[in-house]
Amino acid sequence: MLVIETIADMKRYSAASRAAGCSLAFVPTMGYLHEGHLSLVRLARERANRVIVSIFVNPLQFNDPADLEKYPRDTPRDLALLEAEKVDVVFLPNSQEVYPDGPPGLRLTHPLMQELCGKTRPGHFEGMLHIVHNLLLWTNPHYAVFGRKDYQQLKLIEIMNRELSLGVTIVSAPIIREPDGLAMSSRNARLSAAGRSQAAVIPRTLAEAARLAGQPGISVAEVNLLLSQRLAAFKTDYAAVFDPQTLKPLSDNQSPRNGLLAVAVYIEGVRLIDNRYINEE
Ligand code: AMP
Repeated sequence: MLVIETIADMKRYSAASRAAGCSLAFVPTMGYLHEGHLSLVRLARERANRVIVSIFVNPLQFNDPADLEKYPRDTPRDLALLEAEKVDVVFLPNSQEVYPDGPPGLRLTHPLMQELCGKTRPGHFEGMLHIVHNLLLWTNPHYAVFGRKDYQQLKLIEIMNRELSLGVTIVSAPIIREPDGLAMSSRNARLSAAGRSQAAVIPRTLAEAARLAGQPGISVAEVNLLLSQRLAAFKTDYAAVFDPQTLKPLSDNQSPRNGLLAVAVYIEGVRLIDNRYINEE
């Protein structure tokens, strides 16, 4: 496994691989890897001859400096996990090279950024798209794999890829969950044992809401009421049924059948997001 630390080396590797006729699949991450990330790596491996994984905690997408400060990091452990997955390249760019002039003035923006997490995380999606855009240029992959756990992020990356003609095949990966249903996340490590067991309320509530929504004659308002009742003990940024394409809340009198359930819930001050399609198996 090759560890690449500069943008120039990354570009050289990618160009040489392409010249040699190899296909490339790329998995961007912020590290502190778990089975969710590794499932993306395995999907990447199915698609291409060579797999590139990046680890970069992107300061530009943290609207809260305390969140950036507390973001868990363990590069030696991450490298061992990636080596065991037979990853070809780990790209570890550094902030000085990524942002030589400080925060960039040019921003990619899109109306979808105003919905869901965009309402409470100003600048987050602009910062995320900026780094994903540049990582895609530097790694120049045929495929890039993203998890549906970050549903809004995935939609924005698909839009960027299409509208800016980046020509990458975007692969979307299902949410990997803990045995009690909690979506795996690097942030889960910040929960105490008590908080961790409380957090199971999130997937339990999504499953219950999906069951309710699947019954004949149930309205969006009834599903939203269930979500707010079950999560009443916690601060939430949102917990409702959304249109999976526009990410706008479905209106109360609509059928929730083709909706997306999405929540952002704070447990012990840790912001946890999760989602599921109502008609998902
Ligand atoms: P992160 O390191 O949190 O920025 O995530 C890197 C990639 O892993 C993103 O495409 C995420 O959507 C994906 N990811 C994170 N957690 C999960 C999960 N539990 N299941 C599937 N994909 C995930």
